[in-house]
Amino acid sequence: MTNLQTFLSESVLYQKQIIFENYSADNNDYSTPDRFNEKTFEYYCCHEDKNTTFKLDVGEVGRYSYSRIPEEYFNGEHLDFTFNAIGKCQSCNKFSVYFLLNVTSDKPISDIISMHEVNLFTDRSNIDVDGANIIIQKAGVFPEVSVKINKQVLKFFSREMSTFYYKGVKCINDNYGVGALAYFRRIIENELLKIIEEIRDLPDSDKTMIQKLLDEHSANPSVSTIYTHIIEYMPNSLKILGHNPIKLLYNQTSEGLHSYTENESKERAQEIRMLLEFVIIRINEEKSIVKDIKEIIKNLKS
Ligand SMILES: [Zn+2]
Repeated sequence: MTNLQTFLSESVLYQKQIIFENYSADNNDYSTPDRFNEKTFEYYCCHEDKNTTFKLDVGEVGRYSYSRIPEEYFNGEHLDFTFNAIGKCQSCNKFSVYFLLNVTSDKPISDIISMHEVNLFTDRSNIDVDGANIIIQKAGVFPEVSVKINKQVLKFFSREMSTFYYKGVKCINDNYGVGALAYFRRIIENELLKIIEEIRDLPDSDKTMIQKLLDEHSANPSVSTIYTHIIEYMPNSLKILGHNPIKLLYNQTSEGLHSYTENESKERAQEIRMLLEFVIIRINEEKSIVKDIKEIIKNLKS
């Protein structure tokens, strides 16, 4: 996949991505909107409910051919333009995604498109274009990227926490890292003890010892040893990470929220989301194995 394909398929709103490195006048991909015309990428087709190949259509701007990059695509000497592009599903031809794309260069670039024409134009032709990167971001997407949520996880939480979980995932999609982290931390603060109780009730857990930890904790909630010690008493399927997932989750609530940048917050939120889903899916698996075996035993007896 090219950088542009990865960008179109995966990047969330306002997430900047380099699509072209070391720009030069003779090697000038993406310097005008028409250069995005007919680029293909993978995307989710709502009509077919699966990923298909999409093709970009940038409309009228795609019909011009330039000898120089027009002034309107510059902000000072930096490339900076925003344009609409429609991605059409090539499989069903019924579904389209609408992007508003913003393209910039991180250094000044020349407006000369071909070095053969350098002699024809004097201004800008002297600008050293070495090393400029072309950067793109989505300034708008319609329809909105749907928030895909694991149903098992949603069911596991209380109504209020399900809403937080949904909002947290949506913040990740919209690239609001700090917001996402805040939601996921609230979920851990509210649900971690419930998760421990669920683990206690699994057949391969040491019920007595986990209950003891829970009793100690309710007698003195400020002591956090429960999160460290639970690993000794839980089923192997929850230990396969080589780390204690409960302690990892707990640790996320103990550090200051404001010590992270937007990006660090987003990464943390994504890690918490994955860990939470891992734990909840494992708990459900352990439960369903027992249910299946109970069924078998019932059938054998009858
Ligand atoms: Zn389609």
